[in-house]
Amino acid sequence: MNFMSIRIKKDKCISCGKCLKVCPGNLLYKDEDGKAFIRYPEECWGCTACLKECPAEAIQYYLGTDIGGQGGYLYISRDKEYLNWHIVDKNGRKKTIQINKQESNKY
Ligand code: SF4
Ligand code: SF4
Repeated sequence: MNFMSIRIKKDKCISCGKCLKVCPGNLLYKDEDGKAFIRYPEECWGCTACLKECPAEAIQYYLGTDIGGQGGYLYISRDKEYLNWHIVDKNGRKKTIQINKQESNKY
């Protein structure tokens, strides 16, 4: 996969449907098991809305070479006050950036 896109970990998805509602391109659907999947990955423009919404850390954003990544990925975990952006490089090394939800609109 070389283009900007997401991938959804089926084993983590809890079928809440939140990502389907926020995708501005209506690219996300549920399969016969109720798990989310992306129908046209090449049309994803990486807005990260689905990552921020997913309560189960099931969505990964692929960091391809086209956006300066090297095949790593990022995902987001949330708690009451923070969004935690976890960046995992291709060797499995992880960095975390924590952003206060209240202040995130300032950036
Ligand atoms: S990153 Fe944005 S465009 Fe891509 S699937 Fe998620 S919500 Fe849709
Ligand atoms: S938001 Fe996450 S848990 Fe909910 S349907 Fe989408 S991928 Fe599954």
